[in-house]
Amino acid sequence: MTPPYFLYYYYLTQLSVNPLFWFFLHELGQALWRQSNPTLGRWAAFAPPGSDTVTPLVARRLRVRRHRGTPRVVERPAERRRLATVSTPPVTNRFPLSWLPLQQNGHTSVHVVYQGRLSGPDLRLHYGFDGWQEPVQEVNLKPVKSGLATIEPIELGEHILLDCVVTDGLQWDNNNGADYRLWIGCNPLDSHLHVSGKGSGELGLTSLQTAMASAGIRQGIVSWVDNRALDRIQWAATGLLPLIWVRPSDTPLDEVRTRLAAGAVGLKLHPTVDDYRADDHALDPYLEIAAEAGCPVACHSAPGDADPDFIRRLAERFSAVPIILYHTYLGPSEGRRRAAQHVREQPNLYLETSWCSWREVLHLVEEVGLERVLFGSDASVDGPHHYCRHPPNVEGQETYNDGLVPLVQTLGPRSARKVLGDNARRLFGLHGKSGH
Ligand SMILES: [Zn+2]
Repeated sequence: MTPPYFLYYYYLTQLSVNPLFWFFLHELGQALWRQSNPTLGRWAAFAPPGSDTVTPLVARRLRVRRHRGTPRVVERPAERRRLATVSTPPVTNRFPLSWLPLQQNGHTSVHVVYQGRLSGPDLRLHYGFDGWQEPVQEVNLKPVKSGLATIEPIELGEHILLDCVVTDGLQWDNNNGADYRLWIGCNPLDSHLHVSGKGSGELGLTSLQTAMASAGIRQGIVSWVDNRALDRIQWAATGLLPLIWVRPSDTPLDEVRTRLAAGAVGLKLHPTVDDYRADDHALDPYLEIAAEAGCPVACHSAPGDADPDFIRRLAERFSAVPIILYHTYLGPSEGRRRAAQHVREQPNLYLETSWCSWREVLHLVEEVGLERVLFGSDASVDGPHHYCRHPPNVEGQETYNDGLVPLVQTLGPRSARKVLGDNARRLFGLHGKSGH
């Protein structure tokens, strides 16, 4: 085990030991990181309160451009089709960049639309495909109406996603240096998110939304140790769907029922943090409610009280309740193989893949089958750059954004759609609620 991996593993296992220590370590890491990235402090200070997308007020070169040479600038086409046919686009998301299908002359074309803070005649989309592969290109963004600009359709070919930023010639809207990502033919859902409330701190909603925009993820399952912290979040507007954090014998059963009736999509168990074993019989009344409601239960999976062996026993007692092993197993490979074995043998168990490298995810798919693996990231416990953090935060080797490209390319679009979102939507009963 290399020293960085050891430190990473140590960092993660603190999550299982003591959440306060974990947050302390996280904050320490952030402070050190900021020292080596002084611009970060600046943009954080400029963040408009309550803004979905924090943007730098100073022009600065993109991190990505340093590695990619001079982008090829696409000339403005001499003849542009009229875009006057654009009616007011539906508000389908809260991110500055999104896809918009347009009906023109009887056929549909798909455009990138920009609804961010930059404007003016020199507005340009700077983009690359599949993780900023060369050639990086630029195309003009044509204003359609106040606060809305779009481009001519671009050739998408066999690409799986578009990475992009916007410039007006003076400033960059690059999502705080995390860039924006738009998936092509895929609408990922992150089945493991955290948000500590509406605030703008590292674990606040603004931070999570910046992270989600950087990964092109518009929907996710979210939880927090204090359920009340989620109460002020507008679920429909944010694309987030809450779990109820259950502490056996402590969380009132009526509260669970009330929260489920109010839109919560499942229960969350963290045996390590809350100090009980994952097969504790005190969980039974809560699992009975989940069975009645037909909702899944997500359970932290890690060495000790949250061991997959115990989670399996709970799954055996409540075979009608889908139980998701969060992280698959936050520990050495031996535990992941054991978790996979349990999933193969116990039909109501599922694996979630946060902190697993893309090759590990592929391995898990091979072990348990496509239908039983759910993409998740634990965002944004690593702040707004959770999916693109440097140094890489997934097994100390890769970022989520980097790993998703070869994962999807290897699985192929059909299978990737299942792992990246459809399995979770099926499990959480979200078809028809996703707006997709
Ligand atoms: Zn988590």
